[in-house]
Amino acid sequence: MSRKINFNAGPAALPLPALERAREEMLDFAGSGMSVMEHSHRGKEYEGVHDEAIALVRELLGVPSSYEVLLLQGGATALFAQIPMNLLDKGKTAQYLITGAWGEKALGEAKLVSALFGANVAVQSLGVGEGKEKKYTRVPAPSEVKVDPGASYLHITSNETIHGVEFNVDGSRGFPATGAVPLVADMSSDFLWRPFDITKFGIAYAGAQKNIGPSGVVVVVVSKELVEKGRKDIPKIWQFRTHAENKSLYNTPPTFGVYMVRNVLSWLKGQGGLVKVEEVNRKKASRLYGVIDKNPQFFRSPVEKESRSVMNVVFRLPSEELEATFIAEAKKAGMVGLKGHRSVGGIRVSMYNAASYEWVDTLAGFMEEFARVK
Ligand SMILES: *Cc1c(COP(=O)(O)O)cnc(C)c1O
Repeated sequence: MSRKINFNAGPAALPLPALERAREEMLDFAGSGMSVMEHSHRGKEYEGVHDEAIALVRELLGVPSSYEVLLLQGGATALFAQIPMNLLDKGKTAQYLITGAWGEKALGEAKLVSALFGANVAVQSLGVGEGKEKKYTRVPAPSEVKVDPGASYLHITSNETIHGVEFNVDGSRGFPATGAVPLVADMSSDFLWRPFDITKFGIAYAGAQKNIGPSGVVVVVVSKELVEKGRKDIPKIWQFRTHAENKSLYNTPPTFGVYMVRNVLSWLKGQGGLVKVEEVNRKKASRLYGVIDKNPQFFRSPVEKESRSVMNVVFRLPSEELEATFIAEAKKAGMVGLKGHRSVGGIRVSMYNAASYEWVDTLAGFMEEFARVK
């Protein structure tokens, strides 16, 4: 068996031990004579896995009892609609801080919901240019964010996966301070690679396929206050309350997806938790950005230094031809997933928790050699 060095942006590489555990347990889960996906979601075998996945999110992140941890379906995209559906009302305003394409998508859904409810959406965008030429190269400093104290919430994308711009926790590009206005964050490509204070947020949500499991599961950490405030006149399936009251077992959950999240998070805990993986992740980022910075005539990062993403590193080479050669030669050397998003081009290296330092070091060595000989 030869496994690739996989820098896919999402669905992304999963830790090998989490996959091996799934292989071992596939045909006979916990001596039950069937796989976990053949079990009733109301039975004790599955329920144990479900509870463990939720407990691991709580433990790893230090989620207090004033928050719910929900395991939902439909990806982060479903939350783009579900959040305004729960939190908007006639005459109210939702604020969107746009630092890239995912934020734009979230905004689009919020606009549709607000039109239905007679609510408003206020937008602050860091995009430069228009249409196809539009560029996102940074996140704002906290002082640049204009918070409307009457807003129902302020939405950010903590890491823009396509553009490689990321808020740092509380540095020069820290999360905005929103006072009494709930801060809501799409953390899909930014979840559980470092510790952060969840109590600064009203909601943090993440599609699993970047850092914590397979696609099909979205983890939502939401304050009980917001769950209670949520509208009661939307379909039950969209109310956070429904899922909170039913431990995310209102309807059949994506059981195999949740099982894989359990395997990944249990591996993460075994690695020493978020403090330990953050050390590794920072070491990976400094190795890779180090090569970019040492070869400025060859590798060009469009992202402002303070806003650089630790998870998704984007850069350009001197020409598109060289970029194509770079991707092809890297592939021959066993490294895949390096093509930038089709909307922006260039190279993107996604290196979530499952990407080891050795992988990144191998790529960095390849880049140094490529820059030397081309
Ligand atoms: C991948 C991604 C999404 C989309 O997730 P789906 O599971 O496809 O809905 C949303 N936001 C961010 C920041 C992402 O990286």
